Amino acid sequence: MARYIFITGGVVSSLGKGLASAALGALLQARGFSVRLRKLDPYLNVDPGTMSPFEHGEVFVTDDGAETDLDLGHYERFTGVAARKTDSVSSGRIYSTVLEKERRGDYLGKTIQVIPHVTNEIKDWIAIGDDEVDFMLCEIGGTVGDIEGLPFFEAIRQFGQERPRGEVIYMHLTLLPWLAASGELKTKPTQHSVKELRSIGIAPDILVCRSERQIPDKERGKLALFCNVRPDAVIAAYDLKSIYEAPLAYHREGLDQAVLDAFGISPAPRPNLARWEDVADRIFNPEGEVKIAIVGKYTQLEDAYKSIAEALTHGGMANRVKVNVEWVEAELFEREDPAPYLEGFHAILVPGGFGERGTEGKIRAAQFARTRKIPYLGICLGMQMAVIEAARNLAGLESAGSQEFDHEAGAARFEPVIFHLKEWVKDNQKIARDVLDDKGGTMRLGAFPAVLREGSKVAEVYGETRISERHRHRYEVDIKYRERLEKEGLRFTGLSPDGRLPEIVEVADHPWFIGVQFHPELKSKPFAPHPLFKDFVRAAKEVSRLV
Ligand code: GLN
Repeated sequence: MARYIFITGGVVSSLGKGLASAALGALLQARGFSVRLRKLDPYLNVDPGTMSPFEHGEVFVTDDGAETDLDLGHYERFTGVAARKTDSVSSGRIYSTVLEKERRGDYLGKTIQVIPHVTNEIKDWIAIGDDEVDFMLCEIGGTVGDIEGLPFFEAIRQFGQERPRGEVIYMHLTLLPWLAASGELKTKPTQHSVKELRSIGIAPDILVCRSERQIPDKERGKLALFCNVRPDAVIAAYDLKSIYEAPLAYHREGLDQAVLDAFGISPAPRPNLARWEDVADRIFNPEGEVKIAIVGKYTQLEDAYKSIAEALTHGGMANRVKVNVEWVEAELFEREDPAPYLEGFHAILVPGGFGERGTEGKIRAAQFARTRKIPYLGICLGMQMAVIEAARNLAGLESAGSQEFDHEAGAARFEPVIFHLKEWVKDNQKIARDVLDDKGGTMRLGAFPAVLREGSKVAEVYGETRISERHRHRYEVDIKYRERLEKEGLRFTGLSPDGRLPEIVEVADHPWFIGVQFHPELKSKPFAPHPLFKDFVRAAKEVSRLV
């Protein structure tokens, strides 16, 4: 049976609960324990797949095809443990499961209520895979006191009550605001937040306090006294220059020790932090800098491309350079020549996206990178746009486009080089889709294998010819254009094992131009940078040396 750590938040949102959970996971691993991290989200969407990136940031996709919260990306980047479908659950998912059961008659005539039916469903979810790891870390989204969060808080309270003593602990993250006028850190909001938590029956074992300033012993003592925690279980969380410093910083503040103490694990195994020391060394001691443009459409909210930004940082760490990312709005290039905007960059990345807005601008960015021989990485939509660009400007298919933007154009002249895929196979099962299907959870989702062509650039980059990468898209490059495009220098160097779906394209006569239908950024880690990002940044570094 696993031990459980429930992580809740109070005072304000966006305190970095996800990061604290991920860093704690990494620290427990450093002491030799196995971990799994979970996120319980109070919102009513069944999953974040249908939410705009502006609302919720990036959608993180798991190998088994779930569209999940971006915090799962943090968990994976810090622990290297591949997240699963069962590691992310929302109120929407819980309620729809309960209602399905009710319709099926599973409750045998009972009145269905939040307690016990909804809370039982949550508890069952929390305990999935209980026997597989030493520690299960479950983060509750939102802050204590939110109406929609109540069933989750009630469920974790019951969970702790039902398990043997000492096998469940609660960690609460709060903020100590700094009042410049009086020159003080204030503990009152934290006291109130803990009071709120205790009023619903949860007494935190550990307090993690975000603070801009050093927390004086006097305040620490006050927090311990009023919040009923041990003084060494009041952990300071100061602002960091890099998120990858978090495991070392939390260790310094005693978080992992406090957690082991709370469980009564003694003597505590000594931590091996070599991995994180190396990561910090690479982050803080770069030997150069590169400038990379991301030409996208959700550029006002960096969280929309969270994993890409992180994967670029990892690529920089592998090459000992700092990657300076600049976000460029693709729509700009529909009105203006990209050259003056993109000339100073050492590489260009066009990320994934949905809908037509900005796509002609992305096509022009791809053209600029191809013709100027600047390293280009096209991800998902960024690959599709590079294929359209090559079809139009290399193969002379002027009306090449995607069915995503031009449903009616079936007739006259339209060349759907990107088409709507209606049938595919996942884990030996046939999946069929139609244009009118629901939008939620119906894309080609999760890990799919690809076979790389011997001798190609990507085979060299990966160092192998069979790979598996995560997908999230509805449209595909049509294999029937392969011969025409290959003749003009756009090589299809990665295909699905049955040879029907193009997974990777590269431009032959170019130092580094690769488009991938999948999302390599989702599998990159600071201690194991993804080969594509590692080599893309290496190519950018080479360009930076030439200029
Ligand atoms: N909109 C495109 C598709 O559905 C690309 C999706 C993506 O970039 N993730 O195929």
